[in-house]
Amino acid sequence: MRNFKPVKQPRISDVIFQQLKNAILANEFKAGDKLSSERDLSEQFQVSRVAVREAIRALENAGFVAIRQGLNGGAYVTDLTFEHLANACLDLFLSNKISIHELHHVRILIEPEVARLATLHTNPEWNERLLMAYKGEHPPGASLSEDIASATRVHFILAEICGNRFLEALVNSLLKLSRKIIEEIRPNPPSSIHPPGLHGPIVDAVLAGDADAAAEAMKTHAKIFYDNLVRVEKDYREHGSASYRLKDEARLQGGERL
Ligand SMILES: [Zn+2]
Repeated sequence: MRNFKPVKQPRISDVIFQQLKNAILANEFKAGDKLSSERDLSEQFQVSRVAVREAIRALENAGFVAIRQGLNGGAYVTDLTFEHLANACLDLFLSNKISIHELHHVRILIEPEVARLATLHTNPEWNERLLMAYKGEHPPGASLSEDIASATRVHFILAEICGNRFLEALVNSLLKLSRKIIEEIRPNPPSSIHPPGLHGPIVDAVLAGDADAAAEAMKTHAKIFYDNLVRVEKDYREHGSASYRLKDEARLQGGERL
């Protein structure tokens, strides 16, 4: 006898979620628009308000709407950005489905091409921004997060100049992951992993309009950074960094988190 597969009844809230999501993707709602109230939606869909609430919560978790409280409260459609991609990549990394090695393999492949394209697409205005970002790197006494922000600015700008929004989104996602790793291993001093001057040859090549040299310089940089990262990460795994030991001790003593 033929084996039939059992038919699974979709959850009502999933069906509502899908319909609302489709409407948002079809631009029937614009960023900043407010969805109808829970009561109106439950009447339209002819389902309980609980099911509508669940669907809206799922939309919020997926980043399609933001819930605001208060007088004009409700579910507001968010501006769909490539931030979704960065968050999805981050989730994969945090659940150990992307390794540091895999991440950097991709960075070494993509970023030289981004630098090459940026050299071809740049203009005097962009060059000025790039130069300012480079000159403003590594302010003395910066905190780890300021240090990461200053060391990644040139990468973000090149990605913006390169003229391909998907490549830009990929670079943004990769940088977000790198940032997460560095925040975790807390290299001491922060600049040990990304020493000052690392971007010099890249910026010089872009300003000189030499696309191949820019790609080559970025490749060299990506490899140096990766080697440093692997070394510091190994050290962290084996011994824990100084700042991490402090944090653990504070926690053991029931003190404040550093
Ligand atoms: Zn860099």
